[in-house]
Amino acid sequence: MSNSRIILAKSIITMNPAQPRAEAVAFDGDSHLITAIGTLAQCQVEAPDATVIDLGDTVVMPGFVEPHSHPLVSGLATQPPAYWIAPYVGFPTYSDVTDLFTKLDKELPAGQAVIFNGLDRILQQAPQLTNSDLDIFFPDRVAAVLDNSGHEVYFNSATITLLKWTDGKPPTDPVGGSYGRNPDGTSDGRAFESPAVFTVADPVIGQAILHPLLSGARFYKYMASFGITSASEMTYSTTLLTGYEALATRTDCPVRISLFHMSTEPDAGAKLESSVDPMMLTKQGVKLWADGSPWVGSIASSYPYLDSPTVQKAEIPIGPGGEAMMNYTRAELDEILAKFVPMGWQFAFHCNGDVGLDIVLDAYEHALATNNLLGTDHRWRIEHLGGCRGDQFDRAAKLGVGLSLGPFQFIYWGDVLDGHMFPSDIGSEWMRWGDAVRSGAVYSFHNDGAVSPPDVLLNMQTAITRMTPSGQVRGPGQIISLDDAFKAQTINAAHMLFRDKEVGSLEVGKYADFVELSMDPYQADPATLASQVKVNGTWLGGHKIDIEAFMSEVEAIDPTQHKDTVTTKGKCC
Ligand SMILES: [Zn+2]
Repeated sequence: MSNSRIILAKSIITMNPAQPRAEAVAFDGDSHLITAIGTLAQCQVEAPDATVIDLGDTVVMPGFVEPHSHPLVSGLATQPPAYWIAPYVGFPTYSDVTDLFTKLDKELPAGQAVIFNGLDRILQQAPQLTNSDLDIFFPDRVAAVLDNSGHEVYFNSATITLLKWTDGKPPTDPVGGSYGRNPDGTSDGRAFESPAVFTVADPVIGQAILHPLLSGARFYKYMASFGITSASEMTYSTTLLTGYEALATRTDCPVRISLFHMSTEPDAGAKLESSVDPMMLTKQGVKLWADGSPWVGSIASSYPYLDSPTVQKAEIPIGPGGEAMMNYTRAELDEILAKFVPMGWQFAFHCNGDVGLDIVLDAYEHALATNNLLGTDHRWRIEHLGGCRGDQFDRAAKLGVGLSLGPFQFIYWGDVLDGHMFPSDIGSEWMRWGDAVRSGAVYSFHNDGAVSPPDVLLNMQTAITRMTPSGQVRGPGQIISLDDAFKAQTINAAHMLFRDKEVGSLEVGKYADFVELSMDPYQADPATLASQVKVNGTWLGGHKIDIEAFMSEVEAIDPTQHKDTVTTKGKCC
């Protein structure tokens, strides 16, 4: 009995340059693989018994790929019962945030802990909160606020009590992180960088979120609503494994996941021990951090910030941050790479500043050369790259290093980057995707989990217009074609995850992962593409995703099984 099906659509955009368009695609329901693509007649020759599913006016593309995310922790941080307070999800000013604080403390049951994510010092002009600031809004209940950069957390006095720190004094600073302290050594309600941030945030999450796996599933649903069918976890720790396995094995799980283990974890080099289908869940590499975030002044850059009211209000040091902002010395980087390279893992390295990128590329080049990997298909990556230069991208290309760009930095901060945070020659060119395309390196786009909505079509719209929220075009030399933009979240993004043989384009032998679009994005007005083109659904391996069935399946899982498996470790982008 044939289990073949054929999808017929108004148009199929394949992202395969040898056959860019088709009208039908046939796939096998058992293998989940595409068996033919072309005209309906051609597909019917290959699959004569196939059921034909006519999608009418729908335009089909390969399921989108989000190559840098943090799905489980992003669920904890952005989906109910957590409160997402980022400026672009309904809280443009700091007073919008404090209005919510006041309302919640009045309405919520006494003692219920609250966790917030997305406080933004630049866009909301929010202060760096202390425990005294937060105690005004939350005098009794545990309350913590994750900064929108992911690099800081602010917490009240009730949280300090919860943490059981002796005399209210934080423990010794962990490697790669630190705690804020008053002159007498007590906590000031702040923690900086990943290891310190999760030490504070995890116990708060534990109090505030009773079904953490359901929060994670809500983020899967959120990604699927933007057409995503493959994603990554860039801050994997083994504690997350059972959570990811539970989601991956639901019938209607909408997203394939590739894991990158945090280099700071003791078992970061270990192989993944899991019986789950590797097409749904696999471990791919190791994640490291070179520097910090442009929004808090912790990037390793050669240029200073402008001494402007925006920068002053955000309490950002003018800098330049330079090498002092690196989380590791070059010697430490060499040591980390020397440890993991022989194990064969792919690397993904967080880096925003140009000085940081020079150091990372030096370290990569040294490790590639000493391990005889120059010229091989290693696909080592660098993440975000906001304030880096085109000539550095050319160097990355020569080393075979991939450019994993975060266009969200330009999309939401583009107006303040240009002339408020930095001089226009730096700020307007921030996130140089035009230079990335010209460099010849493999480049991709991402939204970085809880940092910004995973709105692939908005990334496309901005890539082809360089238009910021104010409607201004900034850095027009970085405009790229829609084809080049789509590559960044289909075939190139799949390449970043070593999944390009399986997904990322629609070709015979690849998985039948589709996104259904309401219209042809190539016929949309570039300036409003993201609002014109709607995502109507996704398919994974030839199975049309029933997202509500997925949510019900996850809701039915006993939450106590996953109470401690879903943590904020590595909330940091
Ligand atoms: Zn990230």
